[in-house]
Amino acid sequence: MSGAIIGVESTAHTFSFGVVSKDGTPHKSYSALYRPQEGGIHPREAADHHSHLASELINSLLENEKLQPSDIGAIAFSQGPGLGPCLRVGASVSRALSQKWNVPLIGVNHCVAHIEIGRNQTGCHDPVLLYVSGGNTQVIARAGDRYRVLGETLDIGIGNMLDKFARAQGLAFPGGPKIEKLAKEWHIQNPDADIEMISLPYNVQGMDLNFSGLLNAALQRVVEGHDLGAVCWSLQEHAFAACIEVAERALAHTGKSELLLGGGVACNDRIREMTRIMCEQRNCAGIWPEKQFCIDNGTMIAELGRRMLETFETTEFEDSEINPSLRTDHTIVTWN
Ligand code: AMP
Ligand code: MG
Repeated sequence: MSGAIIGVESTAHTFSFGVVSKDGTPHKSYSALYRPQEGGIHPREAADHHSHLASELINSLLENEKLQPSDIGAIAFSQGPGLGPCLRVGASVSRALSQKWNVPLIGVNHCVAHIEIGRNQTGCHDPVLLYVSGGNTQVIARAGDRYRVLGETLDIGIGNMLDKFARAQGLAFPGGPKIEKLAKEWHIQNPDADIEMISLPYNVQGMDLNFSGLLNAALQRVVEGHDLGAVCWSLQEHAFAACIEVAERALAHTGKSELLLGGGVACNDRIREMTRIMCEQRNCAGIWPEKQFCIDNGTMIAELGRRMLETFETTEFEDSEINPSLRTDHTIVTWN
């Protein structure tokens, strides 16, 4: 696999190493998830978790993918956005590997990497991306030389909202898949359920979203004695419908005809179903990568690194500092 690009992801809970071959074939990522004992993510504890596991993960990748140092053409890493202490671990490891193997370093924009792995996986060309993850919720599309944020959450990310709701019910991180399971099981028992039975606020302002009010109201419904499965179902229906509404408006405004899902919440069968229904009605394509490439992963960082390397976009050591508040539209898109 000569000229392979290694990608290092460390924006938050996930520390992950992945590889993409020179021709763009993505391989599996080798990842570890920091799970807080209690409460939400503690950035310094997450960073300690990542640094303890760095050599184990990189060795697993090299051994399992049968990579020799001479096979490696570049190291790409998440430069932002994310939590400073976590990003710093990934950046330091990447600088060290780049020096050890004498290959270029490429600092990449994590949000843009979700788009590029989606394009790689699905073959879509010029999509609107509905990026629904733990820390981020954005609707993104390319205009000119940038991926522009057309709409986004004004408070917390949708995944973070699901994780907070789950945690309050005693369900460990990550909460999203547990809420999905409870909602699915409840809906099978209650196929004629009416959304008005468990009413929750629906918050879309133009192209923007917010989730705190929805979270607080859902917590209240449980306190009021509603069945947890019913509240999970209604919570998903409201949160996903709001995202799909903004994504549909983005398709209408931009005239684009592909809606790509990305981020961990894109693993959810219900948001995929809503995407499919809306896209069928609009005569658009609704698409998403495999689950392993929806959640944060090193392979997507490698794929964006590969695209940047095609246009000789590498990062000098002195420009390789992390940027926790890097915006999606900061990155100039030099590749096709
Ligand atoms: P990411 O930040 O992209 O790595 O994604 C992690 C987030 O995705 C967490 O908030 C998870 O709870 C959420 N998540 C993962 N799988 C699912 C699922 N099946 N349904 C809803 N949310 C999910
Ligand atoms: Mg992400």
